[in-house]
Amino acid sequence: MQITKEIFQVGGGGLSAPGDAAVYLIKVNDEAGLVDAGTGQATDRIIQNIRDTGVNPEQIRYLLITHCHFDHTGGVRDIKKYSRCQVIAHELEAPFLEQADQVVTAAKWYGARLEPFVVDRKIKGAKGQIILGDRVIEAVHIPGHSPGSMAFLMESEGKKVLFGQDVHGPLDSSLLSDRKKYIQSLKLLLSLEADILCEGHYGIISGKEKVKEFISSFID
Ligand SMILES: [Zn+2]
Ligand SMILES: [Zn+2]
Repeated sequence: MQITKEIFQVGGGGLSAPGDAAVYLIKVNDEAGLVDAGTGQATDRIIQNIRDTGVNPEQIRYLLITHCHFDHTGGVRDIKKYSRCQVIAHELEAPFLEQADQVVTAAKWYGARLEPFVVDRKIKGAKGQIILGDRVIEAVHIPGHSPGSMAFLMESEGKKVLFGQDVHGPLDSSLLSDRKKYIQSLKLLLSLEADILCEGHYGIISGKEKVKEFISSFID
């Protein structure tokens, strides 16, 4: 499913396994990046969807992890078999993945088991940058849904595209959610004034006003 000429949805939303959160593919020049990896229950379908966009999985340089939850990370190890991509996550989220915390990653809730994997690059503090082809992807720390949740922002076809993933939450103590930080993060996401929001479970929200409306609906 094409979002701009450089951005595609390749997993979730009926494109892979039912439990998968959305997986997005970014291709710039000869390089590609993936945002999240799904549960791992249909990695072969995700790989096929990637190939269908004309991208060879070996071109994937980065696997950008928005947060540790199993529906976004269960497939990381399998995707790494198809490409030698660098796994990038926030430093506050990495320990749950590297030590495979079955509760905080919600794997237990899914009745599944997360196998640990190495986070090759840890984004520290409030912001970071990832260079893909000739483009900069901004990483923004948005704690709340989980301690080290991150959003990614880039420009494509003159539009600001925000990979916000689980903007909607939910918040739960077993996930170490924090309501106060969540509301602050939603306000931060609003301030980015994105034209397109790629969400983890609600699909693609297009238009500055619609994006604003969607994010605002979770602030009360
Ligand atoms: Zn999710
Ligand atoms: Zn989540």
